[in-house]
This record gives sequence, C-alpha cells and structure tokens, in this order.
Amino acid sequence: MKRCFLLLVSILFFATAKAQSWDSYPSYETYVEYMQQTAQKHKDICRLDTIGTSVEGRLLLCMKISNDLNGKNNKPKFFYSAAMHGNELTGAIMLLRLIDTLVTNSNFTATNSAFPDVYICPYANPDGTWHGGNSTISGAMRYNANYVDLNRNYPDIRTGKNSDGENRQAETQAFMTYQEKEKFNMSCNLHTGSEVFNYPWDSYRSSKNKHADDEWFKQLGKDFVSSLNDDKGTYFKDVNNSGIVEGGDWYVIYGSRQDWSTYFAHCREVTLELSMDYTPKANTLDDYWYKLKNSLFTFFDYCYYGFEGVVTDSITGKPLNNVMITIDNYDKDSSQVITNQNGYYIRPILSGSYSVTFSLDGYNFKTLNINTANNLTDYSVKLSPINTSLNETEEITAEIYPLPAENQITISTNQQLNYRIIDLNGKIIKKGTVNTFKKVLNTDNWQSGTYFITLSNDKGQTITRKLIKK
Ligand SMILES: [Zn+2]
Repeated sequence: MKRCFLLLVSILFFATAKAQSWDSYPSYETYVEYMQQTAQKHKDICRLDTIGTSVEGRLLLCMKISNDLNGKNNKPKFFYSAAMHGNELTGAIMLLRLIDTLVTNSNFTATNSAFPDVYICPYANPDGTWHGGNSTISGAMRYNANYVDLNRNYPDIRTGKNSDGENRQAETQAFMTYQEKEKFNMSCNLHTGSEVFNYPWDSYRSSKNKHADDEWFKQLGKDFVSSLNDDKGTYFKDVNNSGIVEGGDWYVIYGSRQDWSTYFAHCREVTLELSMDYTPKANTLDDYWYKLKNSLFTFFDYCYYGFEGVVTDSITGKPLNNVMITIDNYDKDSSQVITNQNGYYIRPILSGSYSVTFSLDGYNFKTLNINTANNLTDYSVKLSPINTSLNETEEITAEIYPLPAENQITISTNQQLNYRIIDLNGKIIKKGTVNTFKKVLNTDNWQSGTYFITLSNDKGQTITRKLIKK
C-alpha cells in the first residue's frame, strides 16, 4: 500500500530539531507536568483528557491531538496506549516522543486534513509503573495496585463476562467508558517482553476462528514491520520470522483489551511487543525510537484506506448514532463498524467490491455496492424511518404472523411481491416471491434472534419489517 506519510516523517526528522529528549524514564510528577504543559502550550491542537484515576488515585491521562478539537469535521480516530503492564515501559517513552513529534510538526495536524485525530495515553497503569514511589521506576510491576493483570480484566468476548475472577478494576472501567464515548476506529496497545505485532483474536487460535479482517490485519502487520528501521535485520524476529502473529496462535488469553476493543467497541486494535527487555536501559531508548519512529505512523495511514461516510435520517437530516454497517457475507463476530454521535463511520478494509448494509432499529435498512481502492471513499447514506416509508408505499400491505415466530411464519400480502429475509449480519438467509399473496415459510432451521424482511413490488416500492424468531 501507498506510504504517504512515511516520506514526510523522514524529512521532518532531519529538518527539525528535537523539541524534547526522552532518554530517561520520568517520575510520575515529571510525566504529569509534561502532559499538562504540552496541552497548554499547544492548546490549538491539544486537549488533555483525564480518563479516570487509578486505584491509588493517580491520573489516567490521554492527549488528544487534532486540527479539529471541537470535532466539527468528521475524521478517523486513532488511540495509542502503553504500559498497561506497569513494568513494560518502552512504549510509554515512544508515545511521549510521538506526542512531541506531532505537536512540534504542524504538518501532521494543523494543516493536514488527511490525518486522523490521535489519542495518546503513555501510562495506562501508573500505579504499576510507580509502585516503588512517584520518583522512581525501580519497583515497577506488571499489575495494578490490587495486583490484578489489567490485560486479563476485560469482559470475555466468548461469554461477555469477566473471566479472570477479579472485580473490574478502576483502570479497566475508565478505559472502557472512554472508548465507548470516543468510539475509536483503530487502536494500538504497546507492551514489551517480546518483539512482535500481535493481532486479534487473543481468545482463539486462527485455525479455530479467524477475525473477518484477518487478511487486513496481516497486511497492516506486514507494512508495519517493513517500515521498521531495522538496520541489522534482527528486530521483530522473536516469535517468528515475519514478526506478525495472530494472538491465539502465539498463546491464547482471555479478557484482553485487544479482544474487548475489537469485539465490543467495534474498533480494530492490535498489540505491539516492542522490546525483549521489559524496561530497557535508558541509554538504549534512543535506538528504539530510531527503529520505530516511521512504523508508528503506519497505523495513521491505515485510517485512510477503506470507506467512510455519514448516515443521516432522510426526513430530518439528523445524524444517526449506532448505525451498524455490515459487509454482507463477510462480517462476523461483531466485526461490523458502527456510526458515532455525528453519524460518522469509517470501515477500514482492503481494496475491493463489497455489498454493504446499513441498519438501525426503526429505519429501513439500505444495501449498497461499494468499491474501494487505495483511499478512503465516501459512501454517505440516508436511511428512511420505517413509518414514513409505509406512507410513501401505502399500496403495499402485508401481514406477517405469528410474531415472534416459532416453527413457521406466514406472509400475507395484497399483491405479488418479492421478499428477502436478512439476519443482523446482513446475510440474506432466504428470498423468493409471494405469488399467491400468501406464503408460509418454515423457520425450524433459523437461529433464535432478530431478522428483517423486505417486501418489494415491481414498481420498486418496498417495505421492511422486523421479525423475531423465538
Ligand atoms: Zn504486557
């Protein structure tokens, strides 16, 4: 794929003096002060959010960097975080350096409309990092103050329940609430202890259950690894030669943030392991930055491949929140994306042609054929409320019973109609014609749940109803 930002990055690194050097591990106070001062100094492009507080009351901070802080324009949102395991600190320093780079080079934000809103949380578990006291990282530990592994503390994607037997921790809850509010499109969580690009699912081996976007994740990983400044050819070779691994193929874990974020928050999250040493010697941090500084931008590139748009109500024009965008015969395991409060969505995906269904309770769904090339193509959509549509097409009348259906369902109409029955993934499970104005369908083989039926006549008039199978 095209690498539009990488060249720019390289040029800027040679052309600009480094604003701040992070070649040592800061104290908690130095870190907080840096975040506050940076946000103040660059308040035109920075907003410092306090996501919440840790068990011991330390701040969970996230810097939003954007040329559109008020969110007037719709842009992809990317979220970086590090040090969720408090003693895995390479990523935290890389993110502090990334903040510096973004705020001191306005090309990335202030003047560049094709750059995502970037959210950066360098220390996701400050109690673990400063376990030995605010002034030192000696004593840093993996766990939070309650000795809970935060990367096992998220709801399990297989059961929706907490699988580690611990209470949901303050840090976990804070991140979940923040992500549900901001609705990130893509995210990346930085760890250490290995050197590998790890992608969903953590809960399944790929032979058991691949993510619908498995190929996309692999392509992203390939581009990430090939963008490393790896002069010796030895970096990201710990787990395998490609440097890329599906989480469960490496080792299965449950309750990870990667899986929660990807499954429940409809985001695309990967986990990077950046160094064999959990906390490398401070004088090697510069080397890690050299190796990673281009690759960390790969994710921003990938925010601009696929399709995007705004979904609005066809009558009122108001943006529609939580519209589900389903790629027919492709999406599964909650891999659909959803619109945010502005009705905006992006669907990162490899180039190709897709049949895509936009659906929201109370609205007629709409299916479009979409083509994407190496860019972010605009497919904005208007959905019509179901009642309005009935008025517009009052010539069609239909009775569907019984609802909910048990083992059969009857469609009774006033004219010959074509019908399609679609599940919540947008998959057509049955279609045909109601010839005799009455049709009985056997529903024994349908799974319990919600379906939609569309009925259309040869004048192109259509009505949509919701069906429930017991
Ligand atoms: Zn870790």
